[in-house]
Amino acid sequence: MTATVLDGRKLSGQIERELKQRVARIRASTGGRIPVLATILVGDDPASATYVRMKRNACERVGMGSLRVLLPEETTTDELLAEIDRLNADPRVHGILLQHPVPAQIHERACFDRISTRKDVDGVTAHGFGLMAMGAPAYGAATPAGIMKLLKHYRVPLEGRTAAVVGRSPILGKPMAMMLLNANATVTICHSRTRDLPGIVRAADIVVGAVGRREFIRADWIADNAVVIDAGYHPGPVGDVELSAVVHRCAAYTPVPGGVGPMTIVTLIAQTVESAERDAAGSGPAPANER
Ligand code: NAP
Repeated sequence: MTATVLDGRKLSGQIERELKQRVARIRASTGGRIPVLATILVGDDPASATYVRMKRNACERVGMGSLRVLLPEETTTDELLAEIDRLNADPRVHGILLQHPVPAQIHERACFDRISTRKDVDGVTAHGFGLMAMGAPAYGAATPAGIMKLLKHYRVPLEGRTAAVVGRSPILGKPMAMMLLNANATVTICHSRTRDLPGIVRAADIVVGAVGRREFIRADWIADNAVVIDAGYHPGPVGDVELSAVVHRCAAYTPVPGGVGPMTIVTLIAQTVESAERDAAGSGPAPANER
């Protein structure tokens, strides 16, 4: 059996080409304005710095601008909130990315929630999550929204199918589960207190690994013909699923690297372009829902 490779690198490249044209149209219709993503990096964690750099490089590839905000490790919650207020009020900025995680002394949830819904292109606010979960227009959290784009592109059927999402973080597992539910899958959300995880995964048509532990989801938990989405990101070519032992008998899978990662970045960029289009058209804050 030959599994379909859900090729995030290829699809994100195609989407970037379309985005480049959309950016050019915004520029032409607004007398030279371009979409701008503000990136906030607090502290000097090298992995976070790399993620922010990758996102800024993607902005550059499609002709967008990015505004870099670097804050020291000892930044307080109030200082970060003040920075977010400034970016919310800056008419040049269409989207705000606050790179997760922030240093421990900062109240991350309060800072995420300070981002204006209009500029929440990374889909991190509780308000945006609530709207998305209710099926109302909102930018989705970038990683699960990117996964949904990939599933749609490869026409993976979701309606009526069982899905096991392993992980329930606010930026990944929970919004992933809601998006799959909105697409009429029957979803089980698993976490560190779940009993019989192998049994739940075995019963799933679609398995999403969002645990943050290398190859934690074992190949022998996964049913033949399942669709395997591996969101895990670790040094070296492994994710959260023991993929090498399952690729020959699953229906489809996201490769690591080159699956979920590029889709996350392109979704963030696409949602910023959409925000800029809405701004240029003078339309209200409601973005299109990604489902
Ligand atoms: P996280 O915030 O650490 O959440 C991990 C989740 O896994 C938690 O909900 C936790 O359950 C659950 N978990 C931990 N141990 C478990 C166990 N033994 N059994 C079942 N569930 C368990 O991580 P995250 O931010 O969601 O990220 C998850 C993975 O995705 C990481 O590898 C990360 O690098 C990757 N990621 C990739 C991208 C990308 O663009 N490619 C973006 C974001 C994240 P509890 O809630 O019970 O603690």
